[in-house]
Formats: sequence, C-alpha cells, structure tokens
Amino acid sequence: ISWDVERGWHDAGVVPYGPIELDPAAMVLHYGQAIFEGLKAYRQADGSISSFRPHANAARFRSSARRMAMPEMPDELFLGSLAELVDVDRAWVPAAGGEESLYLRPFLFSTEAGLGVRPATEYRYLLIASPAGAYFTGGVRPVSVWLSTEYVRAAPGGTGAAKFAGNYAASLLAQAQAADEGCDQVVWLDALERRYVEEMGGMNLFFVVGEGEGAQLVTPELSGSLLPGITRDSLLQLAQDAGLAVAERRISTDEWEKKADSGEISEVFACGTAAVITPVGSVKHADGSFTVGGGATGPVTTMLRETLTGIQRGTVADPHGWMTTLVR
Ligand code: PMP
Repeated sequence: ISWDVERGWHDAGVVPYGPIELDPAAMVLHYGQAIFEGLKAYRQADGSISSFRPHANAARFRSSARRMAMPEMPDELFLGSLAELVDVDRAWVPAAGGEESLYLRPFLFSTEAGLGVRPATEYRYLLIASPAGAYFTGGVRPVSVWLSTEYVRAAPGGTGAAKFAGNYAASLLAQAQAADEGCDQVVWLDALERRYVEEMGGMNLFFVVGEGEGAQLVTPELSGSLLPGITRDSLLQLAQDAGLAVAERRISTDEWEKKADSGEISEVFACGTAAVITPVGSVKHADGSFTVGGGATGPVTTMLRETLTGIQRGTVADPHGWMTTLVR
C-alpha cells in the first residue's frame, strides 16, 4: 500500500515476495523514517486463523507513525492487510496446538526522493510473513541478561515508546556487548540515572516481589522511553484475573539485586510477541552478577505463560475477547 499527500492510502495489493525498488535518495535511507509492528497468526482447532489483539498493534502503529511524523493508517486498512495476506498465505500457518505460528511484520517507510531534512510526502507500507517457532532455541529456559550502563536505548522525549527502526539499530552494539559478556540479552536502564530498569531487547520485564498474600507482580511503569508492549498490558490483566496484585512502578537495579539475593524477588521474566514469556535466571553487570529464583522457572511465570498461550491457541477461555479471527 502506498501513501502520498495528494492521494492518501492507495494501490493496495498482494504481490509475490521479492526485492523492491527504491530511489537512492529515498528519504528512509538517509533520515530513517521507518516503523514496524510484530504479530502472530495462530491456527485454531476449527481451521480458522486468528491473531492476538491486532487492534492494539494497529493503535501502536499509529502512535509510532505520529511520533515519526508519518501518516497514520486506519484500523480497517491495517487489519484488512493482515487478513488479506494470511488468506493468501493460509498454507503457511502451522497446524493448531503447537508452539508455531505465522509471524506477521507490517512496516512503513518513507520513499520520497529528497535530500532536505523534513517529513517525507510519500511512503510505502509492506507486510511480510514468516512461519515462526520458539524464539529461543532449546525451549523455555531461563536466560541470562547483561545490565547495560554504558549505552541507553532511549531517552525522555526521544523515540523509545515508538516501534521505530532506529531504536533497534541503537541497541545492536549493547546486544553484542551482552554476548561478549556471555549473556543472552541486554537489559536497558533509564537514560538519566542508569539505575532504573526499563526493558529488554524486544521484551518487557516483570518481577514477582514478596511471597504468599503479599506477593505483587511488578513491571516498570511506562516511562515514555520504553515500548508499551501488548503482551505486557495483557499480562497485567491476566495476573489480576488470577487474583495477583500488580504494580507499575520504577524498580532499580539495586532493588533487583538485593531482593533477588534475599529471595524477596523470586521470579523475573520477560515478555513479548516473539518471545512470549521467558524467565530470567541470571543477571550480570559491570560489578558482579546474581541469580534469580535459583535460576529456575517459577510458578507465576509458568501460570501466566500457560494462560496466555492457551488463549492464543484457543484451549483456554478468552474472557477479554482478545482473539480476532482474520480468516475463516
Ligand atoms: N519492547 C521492545 C523494544 C520490543 O521490540 C517489543 C516487541 N514488540 C516489546 C517490548 C514487547 O512488545 P509486544 O508485547 O507488543 O510484542
């Protein structure tokens, strides 16, 4: 689908996968106006194909577009594009009941040829699909994380709350540093004090703080510099449904380490569309390392994972009407 100032959204169509042509002066190549979304299509037991909260992805796509001075796509067009491609690619949606799904990647970028720095007046929207299995090889196992104090992903007033391509470019070096430190993932901290936990690469974070009646599921508040994850929002709801107290608040790396050491923080997990729910077992930083919950997967993590994946696969009731049928 194309967009320009005169015509708005136009020329929708499905074409065979292949290279695209871009003018060498296409503004995206120089000034980086590029945003995207990530969703999964799941085959249901009756053969229909559904997606999880695609209206929420459509809304986030519009808010990313607004931040990057790009055109905002209406829900009908966004949802319609998903349904149309999934219909064509129906055979690529894995069988019902397993871990697999069809990953959907909508994206929008500026195509206008021009060297002046200003919002482009021409854009292209594309949607590609790819069958997806488990995000981490080896199944659900606790991952190790590196607390990045040298680099930040996003700053107040910046682009961190948008699903903007440049945020991911900015995170690559720290991800490589995490790998050099022997860790699977980076945990990003706030830009100003480098003390408060924000999120992980591609995932939001949750902490189980306290025990028994006093236990609380804590996640960093939406600071403006972390991505408002749809899985994050859904888990806050599912936890409350299960009778767990939840809190969105700042949580410092000191609190994390102290309470993990004392056992007061018994579980930490990360969540996102691609990774679903992944436990965090160990943490490394410039001055040392610590483990969480003995490095094992905890009961709250397991319960929330089973509920969420059950809703997505149609084996658990969907009380909030989150599953949306794309094609019958
Ligand atoms: N944070 C970042 C930086 C991400 O890229 C993602 C994946 N979209 C998430 C969090 C999780 O968001 P969601 O649950 O909507 O997939």
